[in-house]
This record gives sequence, structure tokens and C-alpha cells, in this order.
Amino acid sequence: MSEDEGEIGGKVDTETREKRERMVEVCPVCGSSELYYETGGAIGKVYHCKDCGYIGALVVEADEEMVEAIKEGYGRERKEEGKGDA
Ligand SMILES: [Zn+2]
Repeated sequence: MSEDEGEIGGKVDTETREKRERMVEVCPVCGSSELYYETGGAIGKVYHCKDCGYIGALVVEADEEMVEAIKEGYGRERKEEGKGDA
């Protein structure tokens, strides 16, 4: 029956929405959520990252685990850069 189909569809939709609500927009470079959304200029709309100075139209939609992974990778990269410089 069409009623049953509706119930199944509704359940999936709720699960998807709950997951999306936990997603936050973060900087693709350092994982910070300290982003300023700016308009204007030749590029159009861009994000500014307060923490690493990233400027671009791309941001990452991530949950807590993904944010931690990005931050971890960013910290490691910076460490290696410092070592190589010396
Ligand atoms: Zn950043």
C-alpha cells in the first residue's frame, strides 16, 4: 500500500536529517569553524579562516570526527614543515 511506502520514506528522511544537523562547515585546511563569509570582489563569495588565513569558496561540511581528523593532519603538517626548514 502507498501508506506503508510513505512510512519507510519518512523514517529514512528523519535519520538523514539528524545526521546533517551535526555537520558543521569548517576550514578545509585547518578544520577550524572560525570562518567569516564574505561577498564582493572578482571571485564572488568567499570564506576567510580566522585561524590559518585560508581564503576560498570551498568549505568542508564535517561532523566532529572529521573535524578532529582535519585538525590532526594540519598540526602534523606544520610540525614537519618546521623540521624541514631547520
Ligand atoms: Zn583554517
